[in-house]
Amino acid sequence: MKIGVLALQGAFIEHIKILRRLGVEAVEVRLPEQLDGLDGLVIPGGESTTIGKLAVMYGLMEPLRQFAQTKGVWGTCAGMIFMAKDVEADQPLLGVMDIEVERNAFGRQVDSFEVDLIAPVLPDGETRPFPAVFIRAPKLVAAKGSAEVIATLPDGTAVAARQGHMLVTSFHPELTNDDRFHQYFLKLAMNN
Ligand code: GLN
Repeated sequence: MKIGVLALQGAFIEHIKILRRLGVEAVEVRLPEQLDGLDGLVIPGGESTTIGKLAVMYGLMEPLRQFAQTKGVWGTCAGMIFMAKDVEADQPLLGVMDIEVERNAFGRQVDSFEVDLIAPVLPDGETRPFPAVFIRAPKLVAAKGSAEVIATLPDGTAVAARQGHMLVTSFHPELTNDDRFHQYFLKLAMNN
């Protein structure tokens, strides 16, 4: 399996390290032709406006949209914002996922925090919570169409969703030692 990680800005190295640890060939993607031959793509956390502007500059917007039609794509945090159709902000968006997202939605007081997240889609997800790290994270306000919420905080806030072979998480699984979300994404990309 060969998985690309969009390497325009943000936490791409951490994703590459985990994917390689899982025995996957993982490569940095900065140009449209680097999408050729990939089985899936991770769009990392960082700053979604910057990622979007750079993607426009590098001519990646249409190639990424086409890629997402048939291949697994996973957006973490800023990546989730970039994939969303509906964000109340003026910035370039791929708009490939039927979700409404609110940026920086947890307020300044809780810029970053960690939660034991129950994620039933993961192995032992009900009994062994996932250590979810949130950093100036977006909220998933709504999942529409065939997009479904797959994890929520205890207060009901949605923080992960899946739509076919696409996945979004508002937190950063690449900053923990728990690789279950990476494995889950690999399964989505593989079964596609
Ligand atoms: N706050 C960032 C944004 O709006 C996302 C933060 C992150 O990816 N950790 O793009």
